[in-house]
Order: sequence, then C-alpha cells, then structure tokens
Amino acid sequence: MYDVIIIGTGFGGITASALLAKKGYHTLTFEAANELGGCAGKFERQSFCFQAGATLGMGFEENGVFSKLFHELDISPLPVHLLDTIMDVHFPDRTIRYYQQKERWFEEIAQQFPKDSAAIVHFFEEMFSLADALLSFVYERPMIPPKTMKHIFEALQKADRKLLRATPFLFQSIAKRLEHYGIRDETFIAFLNGQLVDSVQTTVERCPALLGAVALSIFHRGAFYVEGGLATVVDALAERYKQLGGELRMREKVISIRKERHWLVTTNRKQTYEAKHVVFNGSVHSIFAILDDSIKCTFSIREEKEKKRPAWGAFTIYMGVDDSFQTDSLYHQFIVDRTKPMSEGNQFLLSASAPFDQQMAPVGKRSITISTHTEPLHWWNRHAYDEQKKMLTEQILQRVSKTFPLTNVHIQLIGTPVTFARFTHRAFGKVGGYIPNGVFSLLSTYAPQTNVEGLWLCGDTVFPGAGSLGCALSGWIVADAITADK
Ligand SMILES: Cc1cc2nc3c(=O)[nH]c(=O)nc-3n(C[C@H](O)[C@H](O)[C@H](O)COP(=O)(O)OP(=O)(O)OC[C@H]3O[C@@H](n4cnc5c(N)ncnc54)[C@H](O)[C@@H]3O)c2cc1C
Repeated sequence: MYDVIIIGTGFGGITASALLAKKGYHTLTFEAANELGGCAGKFERQSFCFQAGATLGMGFEENGVFSKLFHELDISPLPVHLLDTIMDVHFPDRTIRYYQQKERWFEEIAQQFPKDSAAIVHFFEEMFSLADALLSFVYERPMIPPKTMKHIFEALQKADRKLLRATPFLFQSIAKRLEHYGIRDETFIAFLNGQLVDSVQTTVERCPALLGAVALSIFHRGAFYVEGGLATVVDALAERYKQLGGELRMREKVISIRKERHWLVTTNRKQTYEAKHVVFNGSVHSIFAILDDSIKCTFSIREEKEKKRPAWGAFTIYMGVDDSFQTDSLYHQFIVDRTKPMSEGNQFLLSASAPFDQQMAPVGKRSITISTHTEPLHWWNRHAYDEQKKMLTEQILQRVSKTFPLTNVHIQLIGTPVTFARFTHRAFGKVGGYIPNGVFSLLSTYAPQTNVEGLWLCGDTVFPGAGSLGCALSGWIVADAITADK
C-alpha cells in the first residue's frame, strides 16, 4: 500500500510528489501522457523542441517560489536567464517594451503615455504594494479557504500587518482602481487587458484588484527564460522525485478512484493500487470522470455546476524557423485591435527560443510557440473544425508577418482545445484555471483540501491559481497538509 498516490505531473502534481518523497512518504505518481508537465510540457518533432503551452518563467529570483522549492529539495539551480525585457507588446501603431526593472518600465511609461504617466506610475506603485502584502501571505502557503479551525488559526498566524493594507481592495476591480486614478487611455487599458487575460484570464472590468495586482507585479520580481523550456523545471522535479524513491508511471491513466477502507485507484492497465491519500492534479472539472459515484454524493464540489464554470481554451501554433529575428526580445504579444476582446487571435503571445538554446532548436534556427485564448466549446464541432483552424492560423500568421518575416518554416503544427484535451487530459481542453466572474470571484476559490478525507487537489483550478508558480504552490500546500496530517 502507498501512503500517497498522485494523479498527474503538471506543476502541481510533480511538486507535491517530490516534497512528499523527500519527507519519506511511499508515493506513486501517474502520468497519462507521454511527456511530463501537462500544459507546461514539451514535445519534440524533427530537430525542434516545442513548449506545449507555458513559456515564460517566474519565481526563480532570490526567495522566489522555485528558488525556495529547489533549496528545499536539494536540487541545483537550473540555467535560467533573467529577462531585461519581459516582452514587446505590439499594437498596430506602436510597440511598448515591457521592462522587467521597475525604473526602466516607469521610463517607458513616461515615453509612451506622457499625459497620464504620473497617474499610471501611481497605479503601478499601488499594484506593487498590494502584491507585496498579498504574496508575503500566500508564500507562507496557507490553506485557503480554510477548512478547519486549525487552518483559520494558521492563516491568522501567517497573515502579517501588511495584509491589512489589502483589505479595502478586497471587492474592487482593476477597472475601479483605474477610475480612481483617472486613467482612461485606450492603449494603456488594452495593454493591461492583454497582460491580465494572459495570467488571470480576464480583463480590467472583471478582474479583482488583488488578483490583478499579483499579475501585474509578478514579472517585476523576476521574469525568466528557462533554457530547454519550462518543462526542464518539471523534469528536474521528477528526477529528484525518483532519486528520493518515488515511483513514476508514465502513459498510465487513472480511470477510477473509489474509497473502501483506503483509496483504490484503478488505471487503464487494469491495475488497482491502494493508498491512504490521493492527490488529483487534473483540473477540478475533469475529476468527475474518474470519481466513483459513492464519493460524488459526498463531494462538496458539484459536477453540474463545475462543468458550467467558464474557462478558456488555447489555440497554439508551433513553428521551427530559421533565425531571422531582428530583435533581442524573446516574447512578443500582439494586440490587433485594442477595442476587441483579447482572444481568438486578436491578442496572442509569440515566444521564441533563445538563439543560444540548442535544447530547443539547432544552431541558426528557433523554436516558436504562439498561443491565443479561444472559446473551447466551439472546437468540438467536427464539421467546422478544419476551417476554423485554417482561418485562425492564417489570421495570426498574417499579423506576425507584418512585424517579423518568418522565413524558412521547417515545421508547423497546430494545437486546439481538442489537442489539449487529448494530451493534457483536461475536459473540453479548458486550460489556465477558471475565468474570474467579477470582484467576488475570490469567494468561489477551491482549497487544495477537499471535504472527503484523504482526497486532495492541486493545479490551476484551486488556490492559489494558475501559472507554474501558483500550481507549484498548491502542490506544496497539499504536501504540507498531508505531512501535518500524519
Ligand atoms: C497556452 C498556455 C500558455 C501558458 N503560458 C504560461 C506561462 O508562460 N507561464 C506560466 O507560468 N504559466 C503559463 N500557463 C499556465 C500553466 O501552464 C498552467 O497553469 C500550469 O502548467 C498547469 O499546471 P497544473 O498543475 O494545473 O497541471 P496540468 O498542466 O493540467 O497537468 C496535469 C497533468 O495531469 C495528467 N493527468 C490528468 N488526468 C490524469 C489521469 N486521470 N491519469 C493520469 N494523469 C492524468 C495530465 O496528462 C497532465 O500531464 C500557460 C497555459 C497555457 C495553456
């Protein structure tokens, strides 16, 4: 019998696995796919390596989440490169260079938005200060929302006085804060919308101020290019997990979990394994496909409600090209029409491998991942699928070609929500966590601990949310809680 079975090797699952193995737990981790990492995974074709979804690293600065996690697990630091320019944001009439260092970013603001620059700088200062208050709490890994009196007590202990500063902003939106500073510049608001939709999945109107503050600050703490792609981080965690005695079974999908005296986990290889705890790292809306009916009755998260919760899908283009980029920036966001929704190719991110990164592409070539938000449910109509794919690809590449000539395309592959559902096992290809439904959305967050004893959740649909950093923290919270449970 295992102490813990972990389902999935996304950032959440692999973090929980490695930490539990370090604590001496007898663990077994399943990954249904060929590759580790889920949405942050990679795949190889011809001589190129492509990042499936996530490309931009964070949390590797001193005291950052991954620096601490690697220290905790005795993993040597990885080759990561702090970016001077987080990304170039291309509008039809100008390009904004989003600098990592606050001072340079404020200089850029002064040049781009001379009329509003003082107000915008004050707005950012407020965001940085709010994020500072919030992250010092979140990095202490509280169980939110608390499930027991012990959690409440621990959360209160972890909260310091700085957090009080954040309370007046609890039920405000980013739009409300912009109004407070009298900021109305259409291009600046479109810039914010592009940043927010990429991290928090929504735009200024519906984005809670606290979530927005973290999203708009996190890269200014450190934005990183990870050599070999973000999946390298997952690989390092998996390697350490195995060294510590953890068992990992690839290409083995869990098809059912039920509870008798202990948890019984059955896989597509017709094997059943027993464990005291089960950690599910798929998205919450995907758990119902494997949860036994007897547990569904007592599970506090309701299947029907969950399936209806809105989330984005991703449309991706992967390209291996000759290195003809005339720019030192590796990340390029395109906003085609600032008045239109930040999805369906109107806003997309192009991430290029570094010229020196031969893990990603041969010398003189670059590996590219382009991604845009898309409505996932629109991709399940077989008849419209091919046409939709063709049109969106053409639309995106036409816009790219106005800025960069993508010469000599050696390989081009497309990913849709159907592809993501197949390779990351997320129902309907819904990715990136849930879309906040407004200022009260913080109240509908799920905790990593469920109401069913021994069943835990981690990943981008539970607290503290999406992104490699948030998911790793949720895995860490689960490991803390299981360890404390002993
Ligand atoms: C296009 C795109 C771009 C992104 N860009 C960034 C970025 O630049 N930076 C960033 O930090 N974040 C980014 N993100 C977000 C980030 O990738 C995700 O939030 C994060 O990787 C999700 O991790 P997770 O722990 O939720 O697990 P997931 O990535 O969902 O992985 C779950 C794993 O569990 C496995 N699994 C599921 N069910 C089963 C089962 N029944 N049996 C066995 N295995 C199972 C899956 O195969 C999968 O490997 C991006 C996301 C997308 C989609």
